[in-house]
Amino acid sequence: MMPQASSADFGLASDGAVLCADIGGSFIKFGFSQEPGKVEELERVPVPKSDWRELASAMRQLANKVDAGRTLPLGISTAGLVEPKTGVGLSANIPCLTGLPIAQAISRETGRSVFAANDADCLTLAEANDGAGRGHSVVFCIIIGTGIGGGIAVNGRILRGAGGVTGEWGHGPALNTSVEIGGKLQHVPRFSCGCGQSGCVDTIGGARGIEKLHQLFHGEECSSHRIIEGWQAGDAKSRETIEAYLQLVADPLAVAINTVGPSIVPVGGGLASADALIAALDEAVRTRILNRFERPLLVPAVRREDGGLMGAAVLARQGVADVRAA
Ligand SMILES: [Zn+2]
Repeated sequence: MMPQASSADFGLASDGAVLCADIGGSFIKFGFSQEPGKVEELERVPVPKSDWRELASAMRQLANKVDAGRTLPLGISTAGLVEPKTGVGLSANIPCLTGLPIAQAISRETGRSVFAANDADCLTLAEANDGAGRGHSVVFCIIIGTGIGGGIAVNGRILRGAGGVTGEWGHGPALNTSVEIGGKLQHVPRFSCGCGQSGCVDTIGGARGIEKLHQLFHGEECSSHRIIEGWQAGDAKSRETIEAYLQLVADPLAVAINTVGPSIVPVGGGLASADALIAALDEAVRTRILNRFERPLLVPAVRREDGGLMGAAVLARQGVADVRAA
């Protein structure tokens, strides 16, 4: 049973339709899902970040506009962590969610059943049920964007670890301090990370990380986009940077994959649209893991655009089923 479920005081929809919201760093996307596998974004409003009451009021208005009868449950994807036992949020991007039992509080405010999980977990749910992971029993969804994140789904359900921390392969002192480029060993310092440690994959694994490595090896400021383009066009400096990147990221990712045991790894986040980079990372990872796959293991996530809303809808349906089964 999902601990984030609000009390079952409110009527639960019987036709399977649910409301869904994706509370991101800039916008609340609000949507409606008539049936599994379908989701429609209805509205997008700026997210009030510092005032919980404003955020709650925005959620109430959005929900009541679609469902004045308050019968439909609401699933929420949110930036930041959601503690599984208490449902309390921890969000750097949306400070007013920190310390707040998100589902409970929004349930009280909107008068409906509410279920909440973090955005990486919601993308994982979307991929496992209606994306690249459909039909796979163990799905390890990874996010390579400005930073690194991830989530794990087993049989279509999210695995909720202690403190809401699951699939977070981007943190912990995991980086090699040297990489081999063109037959030479290059030193890579353990950069300090926002999580308080140093040497995290998060410090070099995302778009900013590629730029940081390029600066380190070549003393040049260049956008990740241009470095990736240069690599594909045969530019020597860009090639060195991406070769180093692939070694540094593939090593810890291989350990994570051996540990989790997925048969598919959908990739979300900004860099997932760099197809050649994901294909190269897939090749590098597959030579490092114990299980042999004769097909790509890392694939671009299918639900990159609507994963938050789709995952929130899956979360709401599963939450309703759990409340009924309890
Ligand atoms: Zn870290």
